[in-house]
Amino acid sequence: MRYISTRGQAEALDFEKVLLAGLAGDGGLYVPETLPKWDADFLRGLQGKSYEEIAHAVIAPFTAGCFTSDELRELISKTYANFRHTARAPLKQIGDDLWLCELHTGPTLAFKDFAMQLIGNFYTTVLARRNERLTIIGATSGDTGSAAIEAFKGLDNVDVFILFPKGRVSDVQQRQMTTSAAANVYAMAVEGDFDDCQALVKASFNDHEFRDEIRLGGVNSINWGRVMAQIIYYVSTAVSLGAPDRKISFSVPTGNFGDIYAGYLAKQMGLPIDRLVIATNQNDILHRTVQTGKHFKDGVKPSISPSMDIQISSNFERLLFDLYDRNSQEIVSLMKALETGGFELSGDALKALRNNFDSENCSEVETFAEIKRVFDETGELLCPHSAVGAHAARKAKDKVPMVALATAHAAKFPDAVKEATGMSPDLPPFLADIMTRDERLDIIANDFDVLKSYVRAKRS
Ligand SMILES: *Cc1c(COP(=O)(O)O)cnc(C)c1O
Repeated sequence: MRYISTRGQAEALDFEKVLLAGLAGDGGLYVPETLPKWDADFLRGLQGKSYEEIAHAVIAPFTAGCFTSDELRELISKTYANFRHTARAPLKQIGDDLWLCELHTGPTLAFKDFAMQLIGNFYTTVLARRNERLTIIGATSGDTGSAAIEAFKGLDNVDVFILFPKGRVSDVQQRQMTTSAAANVYAMAVEGDFDDCQALVKASFNDHEFRDEIRLGGVNSINWGRVMAQIIYYVSTAVSLGAPDRKISFSVPTGNFGDIYAGYLAKQMGLPIDRLVIATNQNDILHRTVQTGKHFKDGVKPSISPSMDIQISSNFERLLFDLYDRNSQEIVSLMKALETGGFELSGDALKALRNNFDSENCSEVETFAEIKRVFDETGELLCPHSAVGAHAARKAKDKVPMVALATAHAAKFPDAVKEATGMSPDLPPFLADIMTRDERLDIIANDFDVLKSYVRAKRS
């Protein structure tokens, strides 16, 4: 399979190169040139299969040429063996035809592990084969950072630099990044918000001299490998609830638009998804876009669901590419307009957006209320992000079964959960001592030159 850039100026690449590149050379994002299609027999054949078997069937066409079928099977099996539930992404019923898909069973307790653990294993294999070293610089709103550190810690041929917005992640999230003992891991608190961190990573890619000097690789949610790995749990969920013979809807707590974009791809490939609900917190640029067609930035308001405190949803560019019939010139001018404020979607693009997505936003008060409500009705403790998804699911639900993705474990956000329910969620035993481990981090200015000298000084 070949991958092309949304901005039309970078060369088409195969999976291996796309995996290592992250961002395209023209500043765009890679997407498959064409998508495989699933028919009803294919989906029926997945019923009753393990998560690993479904993963193999879903992603083999995307990775063909990079991994043999057997190599891929082994990498998948090694990846998910690390997860705490044999179903990997178990379903839990929280109402009439209303379900949670629990995606916090990996080592850092957020859904990011599903993709990051897999691409960590992909990177290890590919870099060993090519005998290459790589530097990874990643931005995180909280959960990507620890997931990347966990996936790449201790590897000989990778240095990992993680930028997070100082004071804007939960204590548990910060400590998951700053208490790693691995020598190839650097956690950096940036004086700025998540969009600033993300802009620093983009600047690193766009400075071609620096990019080539340090052999920069990207594992942010714009990495195609991550999007691809997230398609799997939409499929495993839908077939276990009756696909292809029944339609399923999903509500997805959304920030950078990577997770829900994977659901959109699953639908394009033939999974019978009825509705995809973009669930936002008070940082609701995507909700406003669906409602009004206007996509304008509005400053980040810190919330109790910090992993979604984002204005620039990077993966939205991939969707725009489809909404504008894959016209890369349109994308270049829209992205330019976004730099200075935003843009209004064309009538056709807005129609196509609304054909594929619904949206709901969830205020802070509603998030607290949803955590309490689900606890009172079912005994489950939701993290604030998952509560945003559950709230939107309840509002958007009609006759079709609705699945809210539970994107993180409640114990990553104990203050909000305690305020909502009076209960303190317990961390799993392997993380129980995290608040007393030694921290290692550096605070850096929101300045690209500062970042460059830091990376140059530290990488081996
Ligand atoms: C990253 C994250 C999200 C948002 O996912 P996107 O792919 O960025 O839209 C939601 N919830 C949690 C817990 C996260 O870590």
